[in-house]
Amino acid sequence: MAQKPPDLMNTIVSLCKRRGFIFQSSEIYGGLNSCWDYGPIGVELKRNVKNAWWHSMVHARRDIVGIDASILMHPKVWEASGHLAGFTDPLVDCKNCKERFRADHLKNLDKCPKCGMSGTFTEVRKFNLMFKTFMGPVEDAQAVVFMRPETAQGIFVNFLNVQQASRLKLPFGIAQVGKSFRNEITPGNFTYRTREFEQMEMEFFVMPGEDQKWYEYWLQARRQWYIDHGIRPENLRLRAHEQSELAHYAKACSDVEYQFPFGWSELEGIANRTDFDLKQHSQHSGKSLAYFDEETKQHIFPFVIEPAAGADRATLAFLVDAYTEEGAGDDKRTVLKFKPSIAPVKAALLPLVKKEGMPEKAEKIYADCMKSGINALYDHASSIGRRYARNDEIGTPFCVTVDGQSMTDDTITVRERDSRLQQRIAATALVDFLKKQLEGNL
Ligand code: ATP
Repeated sequence: MAQKPPDLMNTIVSLCKRRGFIFQSSEIYGGLNSCWDYGPIGVELKRNVKNAWWHSMVHARRDIVGIDASILMHPKVWEASGHLAGFTDPLVDCKNCKERFRADHLKNLDKCPKCGMSGTFTEVRKFNLMFKTFMGPVEDAQAVVFMRPETAQGIFVNFLNVQQASRLKLPFGIAQVGKSFRNEITPGNFTYRTREFEQMEMEFFVMPGEDQKWYEYWLQARRQWYIDHGIRPENLRLRAHEQSELAHYAKACSDVEYQFPFGWSELEGIANRTDFDLKQHSQHSGKSLAYFDEETKQHIFPFVIEPAAGADRATLAFLVDAYTEEGAGDDKRTVLKFKPSIAPVKAALLPLVKKEGMPEKAEKIYADCMKSGINALYDHASSIGRRYARNDEIGTPFCVTVDGQSMTDDTITVRERDSRLQQRIAATALVDFLKKQLEGNL
């Protein structure tokens, strides 16, 4: 029977540290609040998440291309986008216990949920979430630049560059994966809400009038992506925003939410941003970003449908969903049941003992896997049972053992993670076997 521990988040945080998924940033100095470092296993997991997104958004389609824009942009970008004036969260402090809250996250603005006192909150203040820094040696007002709080604006300002260079016709999309920064008031829940994070955003430009159809299309496509890569459908839901929650320029917005141990929370937002962004940048820059429609010979401002996801939040959801404890007593084990497409390590090469030529043979097979693009690991330390357990904990789908028989007939055993069933195959057939099992997701 599979079960989840009552304190699942803490269990995952400690597994992440123990197995090299995620460490606290600057830990030896006491850590830096809400900053996290991905370790050797975590970096592979997050990279697989980003690659899976890029594959489905860019490589698997002819109508979407990618870009990689810089994090620092002209300060006027943030004036035009509305971030300078409006990218704020409402902030209150408790005068008694000094705790800080996002006013929109509080159920009751009278009573402090931390210390229980009433009437101790300050007035609600608006707090701009953009990080500021200075460009060049002089730290004065003219030198202020912002760290981007979203990747989307790099796409909008390049709209015509990309469209013309790639000779794209509506409808088409521009995708980007990269770091964003927000000086969040209340970061927390491990990597769920941090001040530095990675986004996976795509702006899909469509003819006005076709926006509703594409909005609905992307809602379904994006929900399905999480399921295709292993999230259980019952842990996902689409939540349409109330009119009052919508940004002033948005016609509609829905979130893909995941049932985290701390409750249903947003993984991704899908918004109909209308023609707001292209029009704003045209006005503020004085350069029209209108699209020339060859058929009607008219310049128009396309509408934009934006699926905006977080790489760190998605990675956390894949971790939580994969986490399983099963069995009892000596047979008890922890397994991360990742889909092979997401699993950080696809195969572990394990010599049964550290002698009789087994390590050399296993190392050679390891090298063959790596050469073929299959991320593998080689491990000869401790008992075979322990090595299986370590690999179950990082979600390795296949453990490959080189034993005495391998040395005589050139076969190996392959143990499948979830069923723990083993089969013996020719060592030379392993790479093809793995490729088939991984369905092209190397
Ligand atoms: P929230 O309401 O949780 O603050 P948001 O609606 O402001 O998020 P968007 O601006 O829609 O978020 O950003 C798109 C995606 O970027 C989010 O769905 C999330 O996956 C990711 N993201 C945004 N802020 C953070 C953050 N502070 N830490 C980690 N990921 C984030």
